[in-house]
Amino acid sequence: MDLGIRGKRALVCASSKGLGRGCAEALAEAGCTLVMNARGAEALEATAAAIRERYGVEVIAVAADITTEEGRARVLEAAGEVDILVTNAGGPPPGTWTDWAREDFIKALDGNMLTPIALMQALVPGMMARGWGRVVNITSQAVKAPIGVLGLSNSARTGLTGFVAGTSRQVAKTGVTINNLLPGIHDTDRAVALDTGAAKAAGGSLEDARKAREASIPAGRYGTAAEFGAACAFLCSQHAGFIVGQNLLLDGGGVNTTL
Ligand code: NAP
Repeated sequence: MDLGIRGKRALVCASSKGLGRGCAEALAEAGCTLVMNARGAEALEATAAAIRERYGVEVIAVAADITTEEGRARVLEAAGEVDILVTNAGGPPPGTWTDWAREDFIKALDGNMLTPIALMQALVPGMMARGWGRVVNITSQAVKAPIGVLGLSNSARTGLTGFVAGTSRQVAKTGVTINNLLPGIHDTDRAVALDTGAAKAAGGSLEDARKAREASIPAGRYGTAAEFGAACAFLCSQHAGFIVGQNLLLDGGGVNTTL
């Protein structure tokens, strides 16, 4: 299917690896020019080079911490006017609800709620003025069904979801859509980190922790970054203009819910 976005300019945050990279690759395959970001320059440059080579599109790479004001300013300056924004950053650490202090919450809110909001505030007005735009926020299945040890994530991402629910409906008339993609467990470094924590808590091996998690997913496996990226590219496509303020769960059926 031609997604109809060849030549559009896309900013994909936190995209040297994992789900962000999956989104960047799928948008590059659709013919978008990319602005990519991550903190570590080496992996970012390597991914940018691989994407240029494979898809023949222009890729600008900006090594910066997207959760800081200074990092965002550098990314936004390099990005200029973008048509497509994919927000993403690392997730908060697991823990126990009684242990988290104000500073832990502020950090989680900064990373997974206020950063995507700041990026939308910076870029959506330009999209509205030009009459077309797409925003996809990478959030989490934790928005649909809370994950006990990820209370910081549950809190911050639900706040972002509320912002998107209201804002997406205010901007839809201008041709700009804002939606969220909710990953269930996907085969990335983040999944290894979560499984390592689960293995430690259970006193078992990493392999056993993964097997137990896979068994809890109706699809019987972890998702892939490529599958996730394809869903993102569709939400960014010309065909998705009537999809507004939605929360699309990509979890192999893991969240047991009717709606
Ligand atoms: P990942 O494989 O660990 O990749 C994270 C990517 O983001 C890397 O490129 C990393 O590069 C970059 N990054 C992290 N923090 C950043 C920051 N502050 N500024 C700029 N770039 C940053 O993670 P993932 O699995 O793709 O997860 C992406 C998001 O989805 C996370 O918020 C995660 O919590 C959420 N999620 C993932 C899953 C899953 O199963 N994978 C499930 C639910 C939710 P640098 O480290 O070099 O910055």
